[in-house]
Amino acid sequence: MKLPEKLEEKVQKIAKPISIWYPIIIIVSIPLLLIINTLWNLKTFNRDINYFIRHQASSIADTIKAQITENIDNVEKIDSILSLTKNNNEELAGIAILKAENQSFVYYGGTISPEERAGIEKSGLNQMAIGFNNSFAGLTYDPVSQKNLWNVSVPLNNQKTYILFLKMRTDQVDTLLKRTSRDSYIILTILVVITLILLSNHFLFYTKAMKAREIEELDKLKDEFISIAAHELRAPMTGLVGYLELLRDKISPDQMPKVEGDLTTLDSLSRDLNSLIDDLLDVSRIEQGRLKTITSEVNIDEIINKVLTTFAPVAKSQSLELIYQKTDIPTIYSDPDRVRQIIINLTSNAIKYSQKGTVTITVIKNKNEVEISVKDTGIGIPADKISTLFTKFGRVRDDKTAEVRGTGLGLWITKQIVEILGGKISVQSIYGSGSVFSFTLPLNPIPGK
Ligand code: ADP
Repeated sequence: MKLPEKLEEKVQKIAKPISIWYPIIIIVSIPLLLIINTLWNLKTFNRDINYFIRHQASSIADTIKAQITENIDNVEKIDSILSLTKNNNEELAGIAILKAENQSFVYYGGTISPEERAGIEKSGLNQMAIGFNNSFAGLTYDPVSQKNLWNVSVPLNNQKTYILFLKMRTDQVDTLLKRTSRDSYIILTILVVITLILLSNHFLFYTKAMKAREIEELDKLKDEFISIAAHELRAPMTGLVGYLELLRDKISPDQMPKVEGDLTTLDSLSRDLNSLIDDLLDVSRIEQGRLKTITSEVNIDEIINKVLTTFAPVAKSQSLELIYQKTDIPTIYSDPDRVRQIIINLTSNAIKYSQKGTVTITVIKNKNEVEISVKDTGIGIPADKISTLFTKFGRVRDDKTAEVRGTGLGLWITKQIVEILGGKISVQSIYGSGSVFSFTLPLNPIPGK
């Protein structure tokens, strides 16, 4: 069977996934940006330390420059100035003067041990310091202390002859750097964990949303299917009823007694089927908001009289008395066909569920509304079932209702129509004694309805 185009489109839509990428990109990019930011900050911090150490070394050099220049020919004096300087500056691991000779540098004096002297003489920082007449710093690992040391080369005078070479400890900076790095990595780890939790939540939420959407779409699809199926059933049913009539006419009077019973059963079955189709169509119209109402003056008295005339034969066959109690019946403005449908549903139920007694229809005029009640002396409804009566397919299933055919849609439809017309419906019942279904309708239509 080929599905109608609209239905097929809907089926396609279910298969189309909702875009999940935007939230994922956002969730992932925030910590990613923070990681880049942290790494960048650590790098900048390192570079700033380089500046700071060079500056510190230059300050030390500036303080002792004059003294050194003055005593440059007195190596002993130089040694004592440098020793004093080292003792006064905690972060100094060693300090020395190097002299430029034939494109290279030789140790002139200071506190550097003989084993380390060759190393500082060959340091590339010296060439750069002399070349650019500026201090240069570089980080090296000192195997003796097993720590990083900053080597700083500071040119001492404009003749480019002497260089002040300082070995500076990085302990304080290292501790600071370690602490900063550790804090940054802890924050990053927390962020990564949060990201993972967010991602997994997102996927859970996404799966749930997809399921809910699918169910919603399937529900709509089901409603449309019911609506289409009911429409399609309507034509053959009308044909069937017509042919039944024809058949009845063609049967000769002497044959009639033989088939009368079967024909009556066929009639009743086709009526049941017809009302089921009507109910299904109403359900889908209401659910899809397509139930149209046409407002005009409603003659309640006439409607009730006609309904009672229609049901009179059935009531008579059950020895039920139909009573109509009317007081001052007001003129109301509503949808006459829908009002008739409500009264038919309630009266038909009252007759269906009563084996004896009376069915009484009462009309009362209240301030701004009219109240119509259908009271019966039938089987009644168990108290715990009353709340489910107005739900779809809500039926009381017990010995008393076992023989009564029904779909459980009638009261749901009735309630929806009453509410669409701006009224309210209620029920009072005593199990075993009877029920009263009452509904109200405004005297004038609700604006916008
Ligand atoms: P249906 O009659 O087709 O089952 P309805 O929605 O009209 O569906 O009614 C729902 C149920 O409410 C019925 O199955 C019946 O159990 C109960 N009910 C409705 N009207 C009456 C009544 N007047 N007396 C007793 N029970 C009733």
